[in-house]
Amino acid sequence: MNKVSTLLIASLFSTMLVAQNKTSSDHSTAAWMKNIPESEVVEWRRHIHQNPELSYKEVNTSNYVADLLKSFGNIEVIRPTKTSVIGILKGSKPGKTVAFRADMDALPVQEETGLEFSSKNNNVSHACGHDAHTAMLLGTAKTLSKMKNDIKGTVYFVFQHAEEEAPGGAQEIIESGALKDVQAFFGMHVLPNYPVGNVGILPDAAASTTSDGFTLTINGKGSHGSMPQLGIDPIVVGAEIVNALQTVISRNVTPGEMAVVTIGKFQSGSAPNVIPDKAELAASIRTISQPTRELVENRIKTIIDNITKAHGATYELDYIKSYPAIQNDVVLNLQAKTSAIKAIGKENVFDASRMTASEDFSYYNKIAPTCFMVLGIGDGVANHNPKFNLDEKSLKNGVKAEVQVILDYLNN
Ligand SMILES: [Zn+2]
Ligand SMILES: [Zn+2]
Repeated sequence: MNKVSTLLIASLFSTMLVAQNKTSSDHSTAAWMKNIPESEVVEWRRHIHQNPELSYKEVNTSNYVADLLKSFGNIEVIRPTKTSVIGILKGSKPGKTVAFRADMDALPVQEETGLEFSSKNNNVSHACGHDAHTAMLLGTAKTLSKMKNDIKGTVYFVFQHAEEEAPGGAQEIIESGALKDVQAFFGMHVLPNYPVGNVGILPDAAASTTSDGFTLTINGKGSHGSMPQLGIDPIVVGAEIVNALQTVISRNVTPGEMAVVTIGKFQSGSAPNVIPDKAELAASIRTISQPTRELVENRIKTIIDNITKAHGATYELDYIKSYPAIQNDVVLNLQAKTSAIKAIGKENVFDASRMTASEDFSYYNKIAPTCFMVLGIGDGVANHNPKFNLDEKSLKNGVKAEVQVILDYLNN
């Protein structure tokens, strides 16, 4: 290697170093990052965590959010439904309209985290992390409220009620007309078992699954436990149905296509020597495409109908179709990834696999393209578990990514 090429390589190397340093300083020193109310985000999260409210009953939570939004300045607060809140920040310059959504409701779960700020409300807790979503979006709103003069366009901070209970709050807010001007929707969900503060971009197109299900009552005929020939045992019928339903995914759905059928409830009987007269089952069903959604529904109905008939039992089936799959827009996805890298560094951004959980965020796609992301909160049990908890160190990166995504959408 000669001296010239050595010099060339050395200069190229230093240019790369400068470029690298530039990248790393870009994602750590943007002026607005100093305005992130980091400790307040934690404080708000803990307050909401300690005072959880069920879907459609988020009265105190929504008032708390509305009061905070008003206190930030520059944000107009509207209440499209009884327990939802939207903060509207109009930038000084004209431009597009973007919305970021956080959900605020808790679950009917008795908390078992042992946290000092555990739920004060019996059998209600933030086991899905919506307390974190709300606190982060408040942090984002407060940070952006100080930037009105730099903002091109309008930001809607959507604090949605009732994500956990169908038909869901998203539809109600959409029907109120409050979001009709929005041109793009972003949202983020905390997820365990991803590194703390890492932002994941969900796949293009189906980013989550549908959430369907059924409740089934099998009507048999009660009898003495020693005289089965005089009864129709609904437990045996139900057990056969549960087993047969395992073949829907393994034998009917195209291999490789994601689908889940879970029987989460099977209740019957009260004594060892009594054949009961009914059994109650309930299931949760996830698919990602309309053809598979219909296939699974048809197979389930056929299996239930034929097995009950074979045993001389009857049944009542309530097949419930709930949230559709979230559809992540290709362009917004690409922008979100670029923004997240800019905000928190390439090493903290990853391509997430599709969520098997469903979300009523999917309904916003009726109005405009959507993009849903996930935020890693460290190792732990799944969302909805009584011991669900999150590492609060993840929240700051969540806010950084949210602010950057909003700014880049409006500026590009
Ligand atoms: Zn949930
Ligand atoms: Zn959730």
